[in-house]
Amino acid sequence: MLIVPESEIANLMTREAAFNAVENIFAAMASKEAYNFPVIREAIGHEDALYGFKGGFDRAGLSLGLKAGGYWPNNMEKRELINHQSTIFLFDPDTGKAKAMVGGNLLTALRTAAASSVSIKHLARQNAKVLGMVGAGHQSAFQLRAALEQRNFEKVIGWNYHPEMLPNIEKIAHEADVKFEAVELSGMREADVIITITSAFSPSLMADHVSTGTHLACMGTDTKGKQEVEASLLTKVDIFTDEVAQSISIGEAQHAIAEGLINKQDVKELGAVINGTNTGRISDEQITLFDGTGVGLQDLAVAATVVDLAVEKGIAIEVDF
Ligand code: NAD
Repeated sequence: MLIVPESEIANLMTREAAFNAVENIFAAMASKEAYNFPVIREAIGHEDALYGFKGGFDRAGLSLGLKAGGYWPNNMEKRELINHQSTIFLFDPDTGKAKAMVGGNLLTALRTAAASSVSIKHLARQNAKVLGMVGAGHQSAFQLRAALEQRNFEKVIGWNYHPEMLPNIEKIAHEADVKFEAVELSGMREADVIITITSAFSPSLMADHVSTGTHLACMGTDTKGKQEVEASLLTKVDIFTDEVAQSISIGEAQHAIAEGLINKQDVKELGAVINGTNTGRISDEQITLFDGTGVGLQDLAVAATVVDLAVEKGIAIEVDF
């Protein structure tokens, strides 16, 4: 079995490799070559932790496995460890033998940023100039860095519930030599692309904060009850997602579905746009929304890539197991 420790991931994985892995796996999901297993998520009654598994099988790439991990809210305060902890396990699909164990913390951020970037590549207007960020926490920096590579953005505008956190994203915009401006939520009307990446349980972005022609990547809602945008906004947009089953149950679409505003059939797979079986954006007036819920196959795809890179560079630790 091969081990790739968390400490090696930053040296091995690139945004480009994560982007390619995620784009390919979304396409494989839409063509039914790859599928995700039902998600397990448990409040374990210890350290207030939420622990779970996200797994799947990619028949085309022959990746079988799972990501195990979750959220330990006391880690930082008590132990100076980050609160999100995860490890990815890959198995040989021919034999069931354990193949690799890979640190999953940085990979989670990279694959999540890659997902919204893939959506921007395929759904945003080519002439998008202003990128709006709703959220300025841990994931937001990864999101912004990756998104800026997808179009010739001239300005980043940002809003955050805790305004004192906005320098987290201002710094990334300046590193990329792009102007940054803090705005009210109504200022998001100027944005051509908006990424929402918050842990909120009630909507921040309202339908009238979004202009015609915008592409939205809603990335924060990955659990029942969370919500970033007003449910009625979903009646005005073309909705795409990583996985329909997750979108309507734990993603941003859950609220519009529960309120009877949209149907399951209104939610399409981004992979179908990548494969060319869905036309995606067909006009500059259309508003598109990607509901990025985060699937196990994304984790397996980036983990498989990083294992190959670690073997190539002689960094993977081999153990007899
Ligand atoms: P974080 O704790 O570092 O940041 C949380 C962000 O949410 C901050 O910007 C904070 O100001 C904002 N926020 C908190 N309460 C709010 C409220 N009531 N209204 C509006 N904004 C509020 O978290 P993070 O690591 O950046 O993760 C952000 C979200 O992304 C989480 O919900 C996390 O579960 C989710 N996530 C999704 C995926 C995916 O694949 N879709 C992957 C990883 C994380």
